[in-house]
Amino acid sequence: MDIELQTFTVNKHFPLTISRGTTKQTTNLWLKLHHEGITGWGEASSFGMDGVRYTAESLQKELSSIATQLHNFTPWQHQSLQEDLAKPSDHNLLSNPAKAALDTALHDWLGKALGVPLWQLWGLDLEKIVPISATIGINTPAAAVARYQGWLPITGGKMLKVKLGNPQGIKADQEMLRAIRQAAPDSALMVDANGGWSLIDALFMGDWLANQGVLYIEQPLPRGQEKDLPQLFARSPLPIFADESCWTSQDILPLSDRVHGINIKLMKAGGLREVWQMIHTARSLGLQIMFGCYSDSILANTAMAQLSSLADYLDLDSHLNLVNDPFQGAELIAGRLIPTSVPGLGVTKNSSK
Ligand SMILES: [Mg+2]
Repeated sequence: MDIELQTFTVNKHFPLTISRGTTKQTTNLWLKLHHEGITGWGEASSFGMDGVRYTAESLQKELSSIATQLHNFTPWQHQSLQEDLAKPSDHNLLSNPAKAALDTALHDWLGKALGVPLWQLWGLDLEKIVPISATIGINTPAAAVARYQGWLPITGGKMLKVKLGNPQGIKADQEMLRAIRQAAPDSALMVDANGGWSLIDALFMGDWLANQGVLYIEQPLPRGQEKDLPQLFARSPLPIFADESCWTSQDILPLSDRVHGINIKLMKAGGLREVWQMIHTARSLGLQIMFGCYSDSILANTAMAQLSSLADYLDLDSHLNLVNDPFQGAELIAGRLIPTSVPGLGVTKNSSK
C-alpha cells in the first residue's frame, strides 16, 4: 500500500480557551492510503501537552519516514504491520497521533473494501448514541453565556462541557459557571478543569459544583499529580474523569482506584484498535467512558462516532466550531452525532475546499 500526506489549516469560529491557553486555528494532517483502487482516509490533529507539541509538520515527517516500509504490507496485515512498526530501527517510532492517522485510514480502507460502514461491521446499535456536549471555553461570564447561546441552534444546548481552571482562580471559575447555570437552568453541565486546579481547589470545587447540579469533573489535577487523586476520589460527591492522565489502555489500571471514568481520544490512543482496547479495559475495571477530541476535523470525529454507541458521554464537537472543515461525515441529528451508512468511515472530502 501507498500513503499520501497533506497538511490543512482549519480556523475556529470562536477561539477556544482552556486552562493551558487559547487556540484560534490549527494545522492538521490528512493521510490517504491507496491499495487496489480503494482509498482509506485518516487524520492526525496537532496538539500539545507537557511541553511536547505534535505539529502537522512533525507528524508528516514521522509518517513520511515509514512510507517505503508500508509498501511491504496490505491493509489486511494490521498485526504484522503493527509489529514491524514497533521494531527499533533508524527511524523514530511513530507518535500516537501519527499512528492514529494510519490506523484510521486502514479501518476506512477495510470498511470500503467490504462495502460496509464500520459501526455496522462491528454490529453496533446507533440508537444507543447519546447527544454530544457543546464546549464553552474559559471566558468572561457574559461571553460564556453568549457562547452558550451560539450553540443553541446547533446542538440544542442541552449538554454543555464547561472549561474551568481559569488561571485567574476559582472565583473566576465560579462566576462563569454561575452565569451559565442561570442562562441554561435545564441543561446538563459537565466541567473540565484541564488540570488547572490544586488539590485544595479541587476539593472545594467538587462540593460547590455538586451544589450547582454539575454531572462530573474531568481532569481536576494536572497530569503527573495522580498520587493526589485518591484523596479527591474518597471525598468527591461527583464522578471524576481522567483525560490528560490517561492516553492508552496501559494507563487505565493504575487510575482505576482513583477515578470513575476516562476520556478516550483517537489522537492520544493512536487509533481505533487501541480505542477498542481502552473501552474493554475500562469496562472490565468498572469505569465509565467518555469520548473526546482535540481540534479534530469531522474526519477524526466521524471515526470515533463509529464506536460512540459504546460511550457514556460524547464530547465530539470540535468540527462544529470550524469555519473551513475540508470534510463531511457523521451527521448531527437532534444533538446526536450519527455515522452514515456509507462504507468505511463514511467521510468524503469537500471538493471546494
Ligand atoms: Mg478534557
